[in-house]
Amino acid sequence: MRLAFIGTGYVGLVTGTCMAEMGHDVICADIDKKKIQNLKKGIIPIYEMGLEELVERNIKEGRLTFTTDIRHAIEESEVVFNAVGTPEDKKTGQADLQYVFAVAESFGKYINKYKIFVNKSTVPVGTAEKVSAIIKKYNKKNIEFDAVSNPEFLREGAAVKDFLNPDRVVVGVSSERAKKVMEKIYKPIARIGRPIVFTDVKSAEIIKYASNAFLATKISFINEIANFCEKVGGNVKEISKGMGLDSRVGNRFLQAGIGYGGSCFPKDVKALIHTGKENGYEFKIASAVDEVNQKQKLRAFQILKNRMKNLKGKNVTLWGLSFKPRTDDIREAPSLDTTENILAMGGNILAFDPVAEENMKKNFRTKKIKYFSNPYLALKNSDVLMIMTEWDEFRNPDYEKMTRLMRGKIIIDGRNVLDRSEAESEGFEYFGIGV
Ligand code: NAD
Repeated sequence: MRLAFIGTGYVGLVTGTCMAEMGHDVICADIDKKKIQNLKKGIIPIYEMGLEELVERNIKEGRLTFTTDIRHAIEESEVVFNAVGTPEDKKTGQADLQYVFAVAESFGKYINKYKIFVNKSTVPVGTAEKVSAIIKKYNKKNIEFDAVSNPEFLREGAAVKDFLNPDRVVVGVSSERAKKVMEKIYKPIARIGRPIVFTDVKSAEIIKYASNAFLATKISFINEIANFCEKVGGNVKEISKGMGLDSRVGNRFLQAGIGYGGSCFPKDVKALIHTGKENGYEFKIASAVDEVNQKQKLRAFQILKNRMKNLKGKNVTLWGLSFKPRTDDIREAPSLDTTENILAMGGNILAFDPVAEENMKKNFRTKKIKYFSNPYLALKNSDVLMIMTEWDEFRNPDYEKMTRLMRGKIIIDGRNVLDRSEAESEGFEYFGIGV
């Protein structure tokens, strides 16, 4: 089938490319000229395992093209996937839908035969109705269309694998005609036995927020247990294991640490709370989850401040900047708040991240942060090591080398990746989160 993806970010690029891999003809469109120019040359703007190879192959085999011409992308396609950002409005917490509505306007203007508008972006319940109204306003010839909700559940860091082998695909439709087309698009996924769950449009929109809010709840819950352990004793790692082996609880999203970040959980939890309010419903659990997380993101810095008192002239090493391993995405990462606070207290930062350095540099233009190409180089003359992201390469550090390089012997392990007894037996003062 001929598909267009409007918005070629993490979601648009990965899902568009994977759809091409599944045999569809895909046009990925974006208003960012530089991004599209680069993609045409095979330069990928994000770090995502396995993506580069797929982009290259599908361009070569003629199934994947890139353009800034939104009109062309819409006119040429049978189905238009909207994959633009829905960032948080920092004042209200609601999802900012201006980019989605701009795509709906273009769809209405350029529709030239029956087409489907698919919302892949995460959008609050009721958005499909608003999108339909916008399309109708600009669709002067009254050409038939359907608006479908098809939220995306891929995880950055494993996005290609998640898209091609998902736990499920959720599709909210309001017509049999749209359902048939969506079934055809996802046939290769159904063929490998993955469930395609068809619902009404509103349920699909809510499933996405409910899923993210639930996962965020697990994280904030275990973080509270970790904080409690710090007061009363007990080891949250043991507790997670003991809880997670109960199949009703499950062991995933039960690792305590310095909170969740990224481009989804923080904004989606807030947007759910806001949509609740707008509709006369108070989401008490989601509000608590958000509140706990905001505090938790500062936990590592609090430990640092309590221990060091004064950071003037001190060197603090950050291992990991991205919000989670295997991605270069630093949106809402705990490393951002931590960095701001350390700099405000006069400290210097020595940073290492395998892939997120460039994104960090866009956020902080200061000589007080120095970047290194290897974790040990970032330890030279350091007073404290803070582990901000659980990259695998931090799990087995060479303590002897660390001792030789560092000025101080303090480790603040924000992700509980090290073993307290091992670090202490090597003479380090170790702080974890509830361990
Ligand atoms: P992103 O910021 O990486 O990409 C959005 C892209 O849309 C940008 O390249 C931007 O230039 C482009 N764009 C904006 N307005 C446009 C327009 N009018 N026409 C064409 N292009 C336009 O965002 P993302 O992380 O890919 O997220 C997209 C949506 O998917 C969001 O709603 C997000 O919540 C959701 N989502 C993200 C993830 C994730 O892991 N990143 C997972 C699931 C769902």
